[in-house]
Amino acid sequence: MTLPDSESLPFPGFVADAECRIRYVNRAWHALLGDRLGERWVDLFDEMDANAVLARWRACQRSLEPLRVRGRIVDRSGTTRYFAVHCQPFIETEDAPTELYGLLVDITDEVQQEAENIAILETAVDAVICIDERGRIETFNQAAMRLFGYAASEIIGQPITILMAEPHRSLHDDYIQRYLSTGDRRIIGIGRELEGVDRDGQRIPIYLAVSEIRMSGRHRFAGIIRDLREQRANREALAEQRERLAHGDRLSTMGEMTASIAHEINQPLTAISMYAQSGIRLIERGDADPVRLREALQKLIDQSLRAGAIIERIQRFARAQENQRELGDVNALLTDLLKLAETDARLHAMDLTLELQPDLPAVYCDPVQIQQVALNLIRNAIDAMNEIQCIHGREIRIRTRLLGDGRVEVSVSDQGPGVADDQQDLLFTPFHTTKKDGMGMGLSICRTIIAEHGGVLSFRNNDATGATFFFTLPQGTLDDEQS
Ligand code: ADP
Repeated sequence: MTLPDSESLPFPGFVADAECRIRYVNRAWHALLGDRLGERWVDLFDEMDANAVLARWRACQRSLEPLRVRGRIVDRSGTTRYFAVHCQPFIETEDAPTELYGLLVDITDEVQQEAENIAILETAVDAVICIDERGRIETFNQAAMRLFGYAASEIIGQPITILMAEPHRSLHDDYIQRYLSTGDRRIIGIGRELEGVDRDGQRIPIYLAVSEIRMSGRHRFAGIIRDLREQRANREALAEQRERLAHGDRLSTMGEMTASIAHEINQPLTAISMYAQSGIRLIERGDADPVRLREALQKLIDQSLRAGAIIERIQRFARAQENQRELGDVNALLTDLLKLAETDARLHAMDLTLELQPDLPAVYCDPVQIQQVALNLIRNAIDAMNEIQCIHGREIRIRTRLLGDGRVEVSVSDQGPGVADDQQDLLFTPFHTTKKDGMGMGLSICRTIIAEHGGVLSFRNNDATGATFFFTLPQGTLDDEQS
């Protein structure tokens, strides 16, 4: 038996019998490995599991499917080389046992490159895990061992899903299958934040980037995994710091509004005392009409509830709280806030007007923080209008409207001096103030709060006089409701 044109083939080739013994070799093989007739070809290669290859060979004898294996061999000159062995079963004559001819393709460069890659992977800072197309782990570098707590030896060959948290754990096989059959990329080439699970079952926030490696016709996937625990902790610490700053700002606003708050609470207290006195007078006269007495007592209750509501609103506003988001109605938030801000404006002889667009979509927000931003803008408007003698009346307009792109906008317009050209770039800089007692923190805190809500805070000078400060908030979604 000879191979067609096998003598002129640049590849080493051989023919082996059903038991894998070499019966024939071509010139290229001879030059490379010498005459190995009678030896089993599967025994010539290191790093080749002869029994496993034999088992596959038996299956190929029946199906006549080609077989591909790889192995290491030392050639005649003593050089170690790696080959992919492409084997084709064939039957020479009817009833004869299935034999095989094989071609050796030199993959030494490829293997060395792979070894270098693995060496690089081993020292990589990020965890790198390679899996095959069935989702079994093939490589697991040092950083992966540190992150997940498994030794490479115990995890190689295991399904990658043991490192995943639900729902991805159950869905992962479908992901791979869908990708292989449809090419639909959900994560390949796109990074994503997810949760992994370590050896102790602890969930770890991770950033996962997956790339596909196609080698020797096989699909493999490499996942580069970054531990996000520190980043998350930093992010939380930063959020906490911002919240403390925002809380400090609310407290100082409350401090500045002491006069108006005292005034606001004084009103129901005065009324309570009046109704109580008239009750006493009715009793002292000795002809206390139960109906009128009841009326006076009811008014007393109403006024004490009013005072209680004011205090409750102030407490809610001044409380230190963690970011508490909910789907809320901006119009309702502003109407509630006005109860707090109106007295302040009145003390400065100014009117607050609300122009609320009805039926606005809900926004996902922290209500107290949004009220804080609006209150800051209103108080800045009051300060601005106090700076000049307003000839146009003393009105601050608070408006809401729905923008074309679905965002909700809140604006506060005043009739003050507006923002001078040389101030415009500085306005949102922390500690920038043009006021004698100003802190210069209000607008910078407000801008951060709005940015954290996914919106934008800005301003423009009005055509006539004064400035309009406005902020947008994105519409809430169903996901927001569920979270
Ligand atoms: P503060 O009120 O303590 O000065 P802010 O950050 O709230 O701190 O405001 C910074 C500066 O922006 C103010 O000092 C003022 O110069 C300017 N500013 C804010 N609001 C207005 C407004 N409505 N009209 C004109 N200037 C304003």
